[in-house]
Parts: sequence; structure tokens; C-alpha cells
Amino acid sequence: MKIGIIGAGAAGLAAAFDLSAKGHKVVVYESAPFIGGQASTIPVGGSPLERGYHHLFTNDKAILDLMADLGVEEAMKWYPSRVGTYTSGKVYKTTTALDLLRFGAIPFLDRIKLGLFALKVGRIKDWRGLEDQTADYWLRERLGGKAYEKVWAPLLKGKFGDFYDQIGMPWFWSKIQTRFASRQGIRGREMLGYPDGSFDTIFSKLKKVIESRDGEIHISTPVVKIEVVDGVPKALLARGADGQHIREEFDTILSTVPSFSFPDLVDLPDDYKKRLTDVHYLAAVVVVLELDRPLTDFYWMNIADPDVPFLGLIEHTNMLPKEWYSGKNILYLTNYLDRTDPLYKMSKDDLLELYLPHLSKFNTEFDRSWITKVHYNALSAAQPIIGTNYSKVIANHRTPLKKLYLANTTQIYPEDRGTNYSFKMGRELAATILYDEKDNWQNWK
Ligand SMILES: Cc1cc2nc3c(=O)[nH]c(=O)nc-3n(C[C@H](O)[C@H](O)[C@H](O)COP(=O)(O)OP(=O)(O)OC[C@H]3O[C@@H](n4cnc5c(N)ncnc54)[C@H](O)[C@@H]3O)c2cc1C
Repeated sequence: MKIGIIGAGAAGLAAAFDLSAKGHKVVVYESAPFIGGQASTIPVGGSPLERGYHHLFTNDKAILDLMADLGVEEAMKWYPSRVGTYTSGKVYKTTTALDLLRFGAIPFLDRIKLGLFALKVGRIKDWRGLEDQTADYWLRERLGGKAYEKVWAPLLKGKFGDFYDQIGMPWFWSKIQTRFASRQGIRGREMLGYPDGSFDTIFSKLKKVIESRDGEIHISTPVVKIEVVDGVPKALLARGADGQHIREEFDTILSTVPSFSFPDLVDLPDDYKKRLTDVHYLAAVVVVLELDRPLTDFYWMNIADPDVPFLGLIEHTNMLPKEWYSGKNILYLTNYLDRTDPLYKMSKDDLLELYLPHLSKFNTEFDRSWITKVHYNALSAAQPIIGTNYSKVIANHRTPLKKLYLANTTQIYPEDRGTNYSFKMGRELAATILYDEKDNWQNWK
């Protein structure tokens, strides 16, 4: 079989890896001038660093399996993280369950309630019974009080903006499951994973193996159309790096592009198209500062204060060695925004002017002279908004067009999107394609 894959992110390359292992010819087209998609890297101080902060949780098993299959499992290392929460004008340590008991921003009884509530959600095994309610409603009704008002409400609003009250409860459930898995007892810190050499260790090895099996990966080559003949996709039309028109025929096609751009590539029946376009995505805007000293002691800072114009402050080198980056301290300032939000369109310099005055809230001594370099990244399809009863409207990986498949982050459910799940989905799609071929494409009868 000859398989055309659109997108060289985690899903596309994982599928290419498994399909090429079975002797099939894979050709991957990627619009960006790099591989890795949302988990891609830039060089910082001599080492690759993710455009947007990345780490793994201990229950991210699929990525570990893939690393083992690639022979790079030794690269995965686990680090204790330090978590803080900024609220009511103060930074609180919220790393362990014990820290939460000491979390002075809310009354003592609410702290107990907060801990017991997380335990209760952690014990729920089946998310299906939660599907018809929003996280906001569920939390307000069952937790409520200061614990909701000061902790979860600002985080939901910070992460999902105006959509905060539409997020289905399974999102919250899966977050709690993941965080519990990564914590070690009441005193234990959360352990987070990060590969030596960054996530690029995985992507570079995937590329190397795929190419060694005669697979092709073409960067800076956006697919502009999927050509359909008699209802069956036949070829990909792409624009090459030097502007040339490419037309290549395939036996089957896997697209990993976001749901909002898939209908631009191919005509789809209304019902399926609606399933795609009904899912709203938030974009991410990430400013990465290289500093000559640390800003805080924390790796991850939740910001539960609407006056701070960014949602998260992630100090990468408070978990990972700064020696990797020529001694620089790496600080991410991140926001999830609607693509129509003025902040999404702001220049790097304007964003800095908006953000920097707030850094002294986290360290009163902060001075702009600490910054040695600034990087800026915007990602348009960073976070899908998954509402209630999503299992009933989720788009099938097998599209209505025979031999055309779709695998993107809106199809990860009930878990929140993440590299682990995209790698897993890519591999599952490879298995589905192989199954369908063996079955002589009966699934589209
Ligand atoms: C700020 C941020 C922080 C994150 N932090 C974490 C984290 O800590 N841990 C974690 O596990 N995950 C994290 N994630 C999520 C993770 O990066 C993604 O879920 C995962 O990388 C998605 O992989 P994917 O292959 O499904 O999609 P993508 O990475 O989006 O890949 C799709 C690819 O398709 C390409 N493409 C689109 N249109 C076309 C076209 N027409 N032609 C050719 N190519 C096209 C895109 O350029 C892209 O490379 C984070 C994401 C963001 C944005």
C-alpha cells in the first residue's frame, strides 16, 4: 500500500512508523518547516527546547511503549515538580497534599473539602456517568464555596476563557486521574517525565527510522487539496518548498490536520462536517524568556488571578538542568485564547510590555535586565473545547469517504489532548488502516 499522511506531528509520525514497519510506503507532508507539530522545538542555548512547555505524567504509557520500540526508552527521566498557586496577591506552595492543607488562601474547612473532593473524583472509575454535565456545574454544585471560587473557577476560566462553563465533566475527571497517578502519597511530590534531549529525541528517531524504511517526510509542503475520484480520495495536491505544485497518488490517506481546516481540503457530507466544525479550538500564545537568574522556585505556577494577563508561568529550569541551555533560566509565560482575542494578534513586543510589569508579583526583585533573550510562539489549534455528551458527536476516524482517515486532538476523549494520546492515536490509526485493507475495505460498504 502507498499511504499519504498529512502532518508530521505526533499522530502522523507514529502512524508512519507503524505502517512503514509493515513494509508499506509512507509519504508525509508537513506544512511547517519542522517536524513535531505542537511538540516541536527551537534551539535554545545549544539544546532543543519545546516551543510550548512539555512534560509527561507517570500514566502516559503509550509514549513509553513507543520510545521502547524506537530504542530510546533510556532517554526518559522523571523529575519531582514544584507547583505553586498565585492567588489573592500571594504565591502559595501547592506541590503536595500537605501543602494544600496549609493553603491559607481559603478557610481550613474548605481546604479539607478540596482534598476530599479530589479523592472522591479520583475514585470515580467510569467517566460516562459524568458526560452530561459541565465541569463548572458539577464543581459548583458539589464542591462550591471558597474551594471552588478561589481554586477551580479561576483555573477553568484561565484555561478555557469564555468557554469555561461549557467544558464537559470528563475533562476534569481525566485531569484528576492523571495528577493522582503522578503523585506519591500525601507528602509526595508530583513526578513528571521529560526525555533527555527534549521531545525532539522521539521525533528525530521517528524520522530516522521512517526514512530508513524508504518513507518520505517533506517539510514546508502544505497539502492544499485531497483529490477525490468517484467518491474515493485518489491523490494529494501539495505546494512544495520552492512553490512547485505536487500531485501524488495514494491508496489511502490519513489526515492529522485540525478539524477546522480539514473541510478546506476535501468536500465532506454535512453531518460529518458539522461534527468537525462544531468543535471550537483555543489558540496558545507562548512567550519564552531566557533569564540570567531564576524568577521563582517553582516549576509550574497556577495563576488564579484574573488581573494577571497570562494563565501560566512555567519555569522549565526549575525542574530540568539549566546547564542544558548554557546556564540560562527558561521561563514560559502562556495563554490559551480565542483566535479572535486581541492578545492572539499582539506583537511579541506589545505582549512583553503587557506581561513584564506582572513578573514582580512573583519576585519583587525582578528586573527587565535579567532577560537575555525572548522567543515567541503562537499555535492556532492548541486546545479543543470539549463540551458535554461529546461521545455522541465525536467524529469517526474513518471519514465518510472510503480510505480517508482523520486523526486529530478533537478525537482524543475523555482524556485531555497530549503527546501520549496523539502517539497512541497515530498507532491505532495505523492498525485500523491495516485491518481495513485486510478486510478489503468492507467498513465502507
Ligand atoms: C502550549 C502547549 C503545551 C503543551 N504541553 C503539553 C505537555 O506538557 N505534555 C503533552 O504531552 N502534550 C502537551 N501539549 C499537547 C501536545 O503537544 C499535542 O497534543 C500533540 O503534540 C498533538 O499532536 P498531533 O499530531 O495530534 O497534532 P499536531 O502536533 O498539531 O500535528 C499536526 C501537524 O499537521 C500539520 N499540518 C496542518 N495542516 C497541514 C496541511 N494542510 N498540510 C500539511 N501539514 C499540515 C501541522 O503543521 C502539524 O505539524 C501541549 C500543547 C500546547 C499547544
